[in-house]
Amino acid sequence: MTALILDGKTLAAQTEAELSQRVAALKVKNNGRAPILATILVGADPASATYVKMKQNACKRVGMESIAVEMGQETTTEQLLEKIQELNNNPDCHGILLQHPVPGQIDERACFDAIALEKDVDGVTCLGFGRMAMNEAAYGSATPQGIMRILESYNIEMSGKHAVVVGRSPILGKPMSLMLLNADATVTTCHSRTKDLPQLIKQADILVGAVGRPEFIKAEWIKDGAVVVDAGYHPGGVGDIELGPLVNRVSAYTPVPGGVGPMTINTLILQCVDAAEKKLG
Ligand code: NAP
Repeated sequence: MTALILDGKTLAAQTEAELSQRVAALKVKNNGRAPILATILVGADPASATYVKMKQNACKRVGMESIAVEMGQETTTEQLLEKIQELNNNPDCHGILLQHPVPGQIDERACFDAIALEKDVDGVTCLGFGRMAMNEAAYGSATPQGIMRILESYNIEMSGKHAVVVGRSPILGKPMSLMLLNADATVTTCHSRTKDLPQLIKQADILVGAVGRPEFIKAEWIKDGAVVVDAGYHPGGVGDIELGPLVNRVSAYTPVPGGVGPMTINTLILQCVDAAEKKLG
């Protein structure tokens, strides 16, 4: 069996071409003003700084603008909340990205939840999560929403399939499980206390690896013909799943790199353009 490669890089590039046109149309309607994403980086973590830069570059590629907010390592919850309120009240800002993780002294959940729902284009608020879970209009958390976009784009059947999600983080595993449930999959969510993980993974028609450990999920645990989605990315270009032995055994898989990663940023930008269209008409 030759597996279908779920190519997030190409899909993201195609979407960017469409987004460039939508942004150009918005500018024509709004006296040359482009949609704006505000990025907030707190502290000096180099990986976070790189992610924020990549998001700003993606804005530029489609003709959007960004407001780059950088705050020091010692920032307090109150200072960050004040900055978020300022952006909520700024009519020129259409989306807000607060880069995760923030320094430990900050109440990250309170700060995420301070983002106005209509500007929550990274899908991090409890309100947005609840609405998504209830199948109401909301911006999905960018990584799982990006994964849903890849699966839909390749017409991967989800209805009635057994999806196994390994990981239950608020930004990835948990919303992923609910999105798959809303797509009529039967979902098992696994985490660090799950017993007999290999046995559960063996049942997966669709497997999502979101554990944060390099090649933690072994190829031998995965059944032939499964659809395999790997959200991880680690030094050396490996993900959370041992993909090498699977490429001729599964029906489809996301490569690492070039699968889930490009779709995360692309989904953030797409949702920011959606938000700007809603606001600007
Ligand atoms: P996280 O917050 O560290 O969550 C990891 C999850 O894995 C937790 O729910 C944890 O369970 C579970 N886990 C840990 N050890 C386990 C074990 N032995 N067996 C089963 N489950 C276990 O990580 P995250 O932010 O969700 O990220 C997950 C992966 O996705 C990472 O590789 C990260 O780099 C990647 N990621 C990629 C993107 C992208 O844009 N491509 C974006 C975000 C994340 P507990 O809840 O019980 O602790």
